[in-house]
Amino acid sequence: MTDNSTASETRPLSATLGALRAALGEDSVRVGEQIGERAMTDWTRHAPTRPAALLLPRSTEQVAQALAICHAAYQPVVPQGGMTGLAGGAIARSTDIALSLERLSGVEEVDAASATLTVRAGTTLQAAQEAAADAGFELALDLGARGSCQIGGNLATNAGGNRVIQSGTARDQVLGLEVVLANGDVLTSLGKMVKNNTGYDLKHWFIGSEGTLGVITRAVLRLHPQRAARHTALVALDGYDAAVNLLRRLSTRFGNDIGAFEIMWPDFYDLGVSWTATARSPFADSHPLYALIEHASFDAGDDGGRFTAALTDALEAGAIRDAVIAQSVADARALWAIRECTAEFPARLDPVNFDVSLPIGEIGAFVDHCRAALDQRWPGNASYFFGHIGDSNLHVTVDGHSIPGVDHHAVYAFVYEMLRPLHGSVSAEHGIGLLKREFLPISRSPAELAAMAAIKHALDPHGILNPGKLF
Ligand SMILES: Cc1cc2nc3c(=O)[nH]c(=O)nc-3n(C[C@H](O)[C@H](O)[C@H](O)COP(=O)(O)OP(=O)(O)OC[C@H]3O[C@@H](n4cnc5c(N)ncnc54)[C@H](O)[C@@H]3O)c2cc1C
Repeated sequence: MTDNSTASETRPLSATLGALRAALGEDSVRVGEQIGERAMTDWTRHAPTRPAALLLPRSTEQVAQALAICHAAYQPVVPQGGMTGLAGGAIARSTDIALSLERLSGVEEVDAASATLTVRAGTTLQAAQEAAADAGFELALDLGARGSCQIGGNLATNAGGNRVIQSGTARDQVLGLEVVLANGDVLTSLGKMVKNNTGYDLKHWFIGSEGTLGVITRAVLRLHPQRAARHTALVALDGYDAAVNLLRRLSTRFGNDIGAFEIMWPDFYDLGVSWTATARSPFADSHPLYALIEHASFDAGDDGGRFTAALTDALEAGAIRDAVIAQSVADARALWAIRECTAEFPARLDPVNFDVSLPIGEIGAFVDHCRAALDQRWPGNASYFFGHIGDSNLHVTVDGHSIPGVDHHAVYAFVYEMLRPLHGSVSAEHGIGLLKREFLPISRSPAELAAMAAIKHALDPHGILNPGKLF
């Protein structure tokens, strides 16, 4: 992170706030008690801190004015979306100004011919999904925080979620982007073209940059034809190799009609089941591994018969141990509730969360190794393993309550170090933010880090955008 500010260059905060009030209006600049808890921390619940001020711009032009003022004053600015991030990226320090996109919301256009949706950054993912559905399309991006997270936050973190196996990450949904640079310049590139080879594809620098290179204000997202029929099954498996083989088997048969392939190890599965309304597993017996699988078909007349036949074949071939196929939307929701118990982690656990990635073939052995190492280091620890393994993404949550007095940092360091020899990634989808900064070199070479720092310096020479994050 570059920080060239000096005492002589830095303008007093009061003067900066005065300039911001003059440009944005009094009601768009909040200070002190006017700043609610929402702006103080994200879903990590990491040390809540009241920022020096909270800006609530209503337009791209106001974001540009605000950044130009802060750039001139060497004033750090932290972009804030829905505050559902799991890496601490949107948390401001007491000397930072938080810039919330919440007033910059709404879908501007659905273009049926281009199959695109033009949306403002502060729109919730769910509102964007509903606008797409109302027009007969599907927005492929989906994740548990859909009701609160914003499109700008999704793009800034390059969110993954439940459907990556089918349609890719947030990055893959973007055709055009509007970004305000640190100095207030606006890069408007809201093209709807799929092909556009005119030099650097600048949008990709901002997607996944966690608010360190620019503030995303609008986007043109790809829409997909609606998948008219969805079928959900919970499958019991012999172990990890069986899961990989089943994924290959189903992909060969259905291509990317397999919309989700979520793996749950027994510790996670049992916890998820115990938190459901019935607290009962759909299976009579316990099994070494579980897969929640969604088949999504374009054919409205698809009654799930082909999916059921594929699972029956797998059962007869000994490729799976058992299967429960949802017979209704309510059944499917009940199965998904087991997997989505993660939404309750912050309230019911003291979660130390990991979202790592490894080649698919190596995840099973990593889980065995990681569990054994955790048990040796902290006997009696409660740890939960689950993941979007079709995307090579494994989640691990260690419950701090099960290791009284444990320092979360010690757990982070312990698990991340296991990735180093495997060349794994310390973040598959949640980003680096504040929490994983010191672990970034495990996944990135010195040359890669130097290139990132050079880009940061070129686009944000005063180092005002989200300082202390990522680098
Ligand atoms: C229950 C639950 C389930 C989740 N499931 C998933 C999942 O399956 N996959 C996944 O990837 N994530 C998941 N997440 C994490 C989180 O929802 C995503 O990271 C989401 O994309 C963050 O969006 P947000 O609007 O809340 O961003 P915030 O938390 O507000 O911000 C995240 C980062 O983006 C930056 N930022 C926000 N808006 C902008 C903008 N307009 N311009 C520039 N920078 C900006 C912030 O500075 C920060 O660095 C989950 C979270 C929860 C709570």
